[in-house]
Amino acid sequence: MGARSDCIFCRIISGEIPAMKVLEDESALAFLDIGPLAEGHVLLIPKAHYETADEMPPDAAAAMLRHLPGLIKAVRAATGCEGVNVLQNNGRVAHQVVPHVHFHIIPRKSGDAFHFNWPAGTYPQGRMEQLGRAIREQLT
Ligand code: 5GP
Ligand code: ZN
Repeated sequence: MGARSDCIFCRIISGEIPAMKVLEDESALAFLDIGPLAEGHVLLIPKAHYETADEMPPDAAAAMLRHLPGLIKAVRAATGCEGVNVLQNNGRVAHQVVPHVHFHIIPRKSGDAFHFNWPAGTYPQGRMEQLGRAIREQLT
């Protein structure tokens, strides 16, 4: 997908907007988030413009995500954090603000200010099997 002149991350890729880059190859770029949830918060993006992860061809996703383990390791070593959240938002309702696929790599320390509201539920009898089958059918 071609670069979009109205996309802030495409403009970072083209060099039009500066960013603190930490990794770059022909298909992916990683740079520091300008509004970090913690120091060392990194964004990993594909160089091609896709709005959400489900729009990506599997090979393009693989070419970007191959960098994930190394980036997590580097962020851990550079920040001395105790853990890392990898977060990827798809769609406004899921808190996606920039419509160019990006993976957040967020360093975590005990007692830090980042909190999840994680309202874990339960399934009524039979619903989990029904949903599992429905998703499986969509994949084939
Ligand atoms: P989203 O809410 O879409 O998942 O996250 C978008 C992220 O992009 C935010 O964490 C925000 O701080 C970051 N961001 C937005 N504009 C810029 C920018 O111009 N430069 C950098 N480095 N990060 C940006
Ligand atoms: Zn873009």
